[in-house]
Amino acid sequence: MKRTLSVLLLAVFLLGAALTAPAQAADVRETAVAYMDITFECGCTRLGTGTMIAVNGLVTAAHNLVCYQHSRKLKNCTFYFGRNNNRYHYKYSGNFSYTWFTDFSKGYVSSDDIGYVVFPKDIGNTTGWYAWSVESDDDIRWEYCNMTGYSGSVTVSDFAQVDVLNDKEITWPISYEMKQCGQGGPVYYLWEGMEYPTLVAVYTTCGTVGYARRMTREVYDSMRSNGVKFN
Ligand SMILES: [Zn+2]
Repeated sequence: MKRTLSVLLLAVFLLGAALTAPAQAADVRETAVAYMDITFECGCTRLGTGTMIAVNGLVTAAHNLVCYQHSRKLKNCTFYFGRNNNRYHYKYSGNFSYTWFTDFSKGYVSSDDIGYVVFPKDIGNTTGWYAWSVESDDDIRWEYCNMTGYSGSVTVSDFAQVDVLNDKEITWPISYEMKQCGQGGPVYYLWEGMEYPTLVAVYTTCGTVGYARRMTREVYDSMRSNGVKFN
């Protein structure tokens, strides 16, 4: 009986520790991913997803920063990090700067559908952030790829069979659950023993297959030159 009680007390203690754990101990796969409530200058609105990949930098699809139908830029955006149903880990609705790699003035193109946000403060200290990689195809372990995004709640899916379209894009067979992921969310790999999820691409669009724009050196260099603090 005494043994049972102590096990129970330990369980209660561990549960208490989990509930009161600091933000940094939460799963960065969720807390570093933002549900974006977006309004463009043309009046169009959309919901998107973005991922912190540095203490002050978030990567997302370009079409979350400029309207792909009217080529008009963002008017305002509120970021709900770690959103799950109506709860969230951290909300940001202040100022930020942003850059995109296409304004869709010649129509929608998925190959350049990537952009980023630079926050004026180090919100990553609260949200956490993903590692990132621009490794060659040979070094990426696609069999460990996942994606995360928002459509009211968090969705995480494993996927294999990634096809590399070119040096910027990948595709893969898409499931219903994946279609619910918010566009702009992270395609990342993670396996047992890895400390951080590692972003390799940004989910852009889907039909019967999913499309993602890869994180490239060009994006990294641009982010760095615009004040993103990579380690
Ligand atoms: Zn529009």
